[in-house]
This record gives sequence, structure tokens and C-alpha cells, in this order.
Amino acid sequence: MHELQSEDGIVPDGLALPLTASLSRMRGTDHQPPRCAALCGQVGQQVACGIYEWRPNPCRELEAGSDGCNRARLRHGLPVLDE
Ligand code: SF4
Repeated sequence: MHELQSEDGIVPDGLALPLTASLSRMRGTDHQPPRCAALCGQVGQQVACGIYEWRPNPCRELEAGSDGCNRARLRHGLPVLDE
């Protein structure tokens, strides 16, 4: 993944796992329930990204209150956010 530090990106390699030759996923996002290894705190209480400045592009592109955001919230039993 070109976003990894080893590929001149900014995402720490140790927090990602390769999926294909060009794709990686954040560790823990394939767990059940999914939980990114970089996430700090307790879902539903208070959380923060532990690598906020170095987070990958999909995380940067996900906007609070977007469809993707609200689907993720529902998966964790949280109410959707109003736009
Ligand atoms: S924003 Fe941070 S904690 Fe959330 S999925 Fe992305 S890297 Fe993980």
C-alpha cells in the first residue's frame, strides 16, 4: 500500500496488514466486532484515533454524518448522526 511508511507514505507499517500486492487494511478491522488497532478509548463513550496525523486516506475521506459513518455507527449500536 503506497500509504505505508515503508512505501514513502505516512501510515505506520505495524498497524496495517497486507490484503493484496497493492492493498492493506488496518489491523483489527477484520475482527468481529471490527476495531482498528489505532483506535483509543471506548466505542460509545469517547474514542480517538491514535494516529490521527498519520491515518490513511479512507479515514480522511469518511465524513461525520455521512452514509458510511452512519452505517458504522449502526453496526456498533450507536444512533445515526444528523447531517
Ligand atoms: S481513523 Fe484512525 S482509528 Fe479510525 S480506522 Fe482510521 S486509523 Fe483506525
